[in-house]
Amino acid sequence: MTPIRQRHRAAPRVPTGLVALIFVGCGSASPPRPYYDSTGFQQAPAATGQRGALAATVRARLKGRTVSVRERGAVRLVAPAKFDELSVAVLQALLVVGDDDRRGAEADLLIPVRGEGTYPVSVVIETGGALIAELGPRVKWATPRGEGDLRAQFGTGPLQQTGRSHWDEPSRLALQTALERLSATERKLLVAMPFVRAPNGVPRERAGQHVLRNCGERLFVYDRAFQSQGVQFVGRPDAPLPASALTVLHELGHALHSRPGRLAFCAYEKRHAALEATLAAFNGKVKRVNQLGRQGKRAEAEKLGQAMERDRARIQSENAQLSKLADRAAALVRSGPVLAAYNKALGGRPAPTRYGEVSVQESFAESFALYHADPDALGRVLPGVLEWFQAGGHLKALE
Ligand SMILES: [Zn+2]
Repeated sequence: MTPIRQRHRAAPRVPTGLVALIFVGCGSASPPRPYYDSTGFQQAPAATGQRGALAATVRARLKGRTVSVRERGAVRLVAPAKFDELSVAVLQALLVVGDDDRRGAEADLLIPVRGEGTYPVSVVIETGGALIAELGPRVKWATPRGEGDLRAQFGTGPLQQTGRSHWDEPSRLALQTALERLSATERKLLVAMPFVRAPNGVPRERAGQHVLRNCGERLFVYDRAFQSQGVQFVGRPDAPLPASALTVLHELGHALHSRPGRLAFCAYEKRHAALEATLAAFNGKVKRVNQLGRQGKRAEAEKLGQAMERDRARIQSENAQLSKLADRAAALVRSGPVLAAYNKALGGRPAPTRYGEVSVQESFAESFALYHADPDALGRVLPGVLEWFQAGGHLKALE
């Protein structure tokens, strides 16, 4: 069997510079539509003393586009003349995402403010260009549990590491955050495999990878998953989660949709092992027939030989069936009932992120990750898909 390697999530690009934006192959000619933007932005820390200057820059850059802030659930319009009443973190965030080509996006940014710390600011850019910003309290990440505790609490397979990588605090926080978001049922189905911290995938843009080898599976988390650690969060600004948790959730999404195919491979491997045993026994008998022949016991050799013809036919038939089973398993890994049901829920709409537009597998993995890490964001972009997940559509498809 050739190994099946799944596609996996590419890391958000992190351009340096304040408003540099790179997107590859995202069809800029298409009309703006709502999407979740997982692009990270490196930026110099803002300083409270720059507020007036920042407000003036935002005013000039946004050229009359509407700016609102969301506070305690209510949205309040902010006149350009009042921009200098906004916090520097919000002003900086508006500056970072104010480009016209991000219309429709939601960006969850971590904004460093000199001498204060880092603030989460979520900015929604409506397709018409209006911006709505929401500021959260200063970020303080929790200290993650140790490897043994994580395994015991969530029932994961072994936590492995390769090269210079190890399950350091950011990696454990990403894993813990992702596993905490899963339901008990999802955890039972998905997390028993080994989780591997490794330096780089191939290509290097990879943040994570779910690797299937027939019945076996492993989930890789690469250094790249942490590249935007300081510049991006996911979830609500009043309860921000590390963006790296999205990578783990995304790969778990692949584990979910490929599960029926993987289980079919497990059944295949079991029957394959049984066939190998049958073959070994058959070959042992062949030896015996030849031995009898050499000993001149022709009648006995013939009798045994005839009985073996039936075995040979059975082995050939089982072999043909197994080959069909393997093809079916491979097809199930590529598509399968979860992706079929997801496609129905998606109803022809584009993926929730630019990256997800690559394929239905990536679209599902991105939706699965957002459903767990930022359901509000998924609900804004694909409300029908959020409802489908909430109703357990992804689990019902496995039944
Ligand atoms: Zn993927």
